[in-house]
Amino acid sequence: MDLSAIGNDVERVIVSEEDLHAKIKEMAAQIDIDYAGRDLLLVGVLKGAVMAMADLARALQSHIEMDWMAVSSYGSGTKSSGVVRILKDLDRDITGREVLIVEDIVDSGLTLSWLKANLESRGAKSVEILAILRKPDAAKVEVPVKYVGFEIPSDFVVGYGLDYNEKYRNLPFIGVLSKHIYS
Ligand code: 5GP
Repeated sequence: MDLSAIGNDVERVIVSEEDLHAKIKEMAAQIDIDYAGRDLLLVGVLKGAVMAMADLARALQSHIEMDWMAVSSYGSGTKSSGVVRILKDLDRDITGREVLIVEDIVDSGLTLSWLKANLESRGAKSVEILAILRKPDAAKVEVPVKYVGFEIPSDFVVGYGLDYNEKYRNLPFIGVLSKHIYS
């Protein structure tokens, strides 16, 4: 789906398709180095990380496995509270596994810090995080994100997996949603 197909729903593009692909390639090369000789399990957080997982997995030159989780974070309005419910759990036991969580965006960081602790409590050997985007608020919570794609402003963004009411996930770029869509 192109920009031309959505009229003025997106105010401006902040990360282009080309920049996303270049960054994914760069992160994949680093992950290949960091995890050389180790069996890596990528855990994608549904549904936002679908595009990132698909592109990252194909850019990696090592064997990897993929699993998925779906979580819902309780919060008031658009802010998450850190209280998380598992909607879909992993298919396999992760005891002793090297896990890399693949996430679309870190905002408050509460969801990811809960998820990291949860996977660690299952006996994973290591649990690291990759996020395509990070917002400034993420600095307030101690959530160590090992691989960050792009630092972006606090605007509400859509595309490349990120939605508004389940729409816009299939945009190949990341853009700021126009205010008239949600106000
Ligand atoms: P956190 O617990 O870090 O505040 O919540 C992160 C989650 O909030 C993300 O996985 C994503 O689902 C949602 N989120 C945060 N910022 C945005 C945004 O700008 N756009 C969209 N579509 N979702 C966002």
